[in-house]
Amino acid sequence: MSVSTDLQLDPFALARELSGKHFFGGDFRPASSGKGFPVVNPATGETVAEAAFGEAADVDAAVAAAVAAQKEWAKRPVRERGKLVAECGRVLDAHKEEIAKLIALETGKALRTESRVEAGVLSDAFVFFGGLAPELKGETIPFNPTMLTMTVREPVGVVGAIIPWNVPLLLMALKIAPAMVAGNAVVVKSAEEAPLAVLRVVQLINTVIPAGVVNILSGYGPECGAPLVAHKDVKKVTFTGSVETGKIVYKTAAEKLIPVTLELGGKSPMIVCGDADLDQAIAGAIAGMRFTRQGQSCTASSRIFVHDSIHDAFVEKLKEKVNAMKMGDPLDESTDIGTIVSPQQLDRVQSYIAIGKEGGATPHVCSAMPSDPKLTKGLYVQPHIFTGVKNSDRIAQEEIFGPVCCVIRWTDYEEVIAQANDTEYGLAATIWTRDLKVAMDAVHRLEAGFVQVNQNLVVQPNLSYGGVKSSGLGKEASLEAMLEHFTHKKTIIINMK
Ligand code: NAD
Repeated sequence: MSVSTDLQLDPFALARELSGKHFFGGDFRPASSGKGFPVVNPATGETVAEAAFGEAADVDAAVAAAVAAQKEWAKRPVRERGKLVAECGRVLDAHKEEIAKLIALETGKALRTESRVEAGVLSDAFVFFGGLAPELKGETIPFNPTMLTMTVREPVGVVGAIIPWNVPLLLMALKIAPAMVAGNAVVVKSAEEAPLAVLRVVQLINTVIPAGVVNILSGYGPECGAPLVAHKDVKKVTFTGSVETGKIVYKTAAEKLIPVTLELGGKSPMIVCGDADLDQAIAGAIAGMRFTRQGQSCTASSRIFVHDSIHDAFVEKLKEKVNAMKMGDPLDESTDIGTIVSPQQLDRVQSYIAIGKEGGATPHVCSAMPSDPKLTKGLYVQPHIFTGVKNSDRIAQEEIFGPVCCVIRWTDYEEVIAQANDTEYGLAATIWTRDLKVAMDAVHRLEAGFVQVNQNLVVQPNLSYGGVKSSGLGKEASLEAMLEHFTHKKTIIINMK
């Protein structure tokens, strides 16, 4: 089932070649049942590939491959593991344009504004975590003069990693790179909407690392994700996705008493104060809302609280800027905004737009639908900026995961902080002000894992990232993630008497 690792810049041809394949034990493998499921280009509705339909038998085989590889991998000197993981980054960097085109094709994320950016930073995670290998160290602890007491970091074993479709490359990298450096083997379950680019990434890094250390299955949640989490040889699960699925994963892991990291949804507040730099805040709202990705971002600044004194000017300028963005073919270099990922997601977004209108909020519909006839079946939704929203409205409380933002007018600072925190989520938050005292007060009081001042939201491998409340458990990225989530700390006492 070989697929060449030469640079392949035609995403349609590469998608066809990657059809019907998992990758584990160092090679492509067909689905055990021979079944597949369609991978659809959301810009045209055309099927571009048939992904392998993973089930329990595939999970068993992939986990067995990981178990077989893990012990030998863990025995390698840590610096050698780090070197190989960093080398994976260099291989991926050489393929970033190919990976960007493939991810644009399967997810509808615009090549120039989104897919190339994600593929471009993919290697950073491998290089960063590879360089952290020497940090896998323990401590000596003063305890008793006749006893030498120390701790060592040991790998957890086989890690099950489940990823979503919205930023699959980066999110997979933030899981597999630290897990590998720490001496684990990983089985990834990709999202059914985006199985191809991550499959190619796993193939490419397998040109560097030993067979079985990183494996990937495609398939649906209940048939493939659930047996992976439940598998007796999977000793840790790292999951990114919705709160609903996160709870299911957590329950299964609890039955096995294994550790879990959960990166879940958000409804992130952006507070714009009356003294904010208006242009900077508008740019922050556009980037924070991720309109270029059709708002399909867990950290989307989907609740924008704007002070009464600048509310109308803010809304006018925001509309003007979003209107200037071009919706179109994700693979076209002139496109700013691509498509929604799937028909199910499209229905969800459209139903929330209807809920917003029924609730009495005012929609401001921006940008023009693409005019190209080949895109008439494309999953496009125009950006919707709702004004006249109350924080208690459903569109302000529930995660939409689409190009829909709520602008909420505020006058009282205490009230706006309370409203910003009045959500089940706690992933990210931003505040926009020139007043340092206000900024410092807000950063401490906002209930979120990631708070920024006059700045929109960025994920970096060296910055600890993750939510509080229903947005998740545990952190991803940073040295802390590698040590806390992919190793066990063992305490050793040696009696020297
Ligand atoms: P989802 O929960 O539907 O699916 C996520 C993954 O879980 C997919 O691979 C899916 O196949 C799998 N899955 C589904 N059911 C499963 C089960 N029973 N057992 C095991 N696995 C199962 O989420 P989605 O729609 O793919 O992604 C969007 C969600 O992800 C949003 O809520 C978004 O906020 C969240 N997200 C969070 C972060 C973060 O870092 N906090 C980042 C990106 C996305």
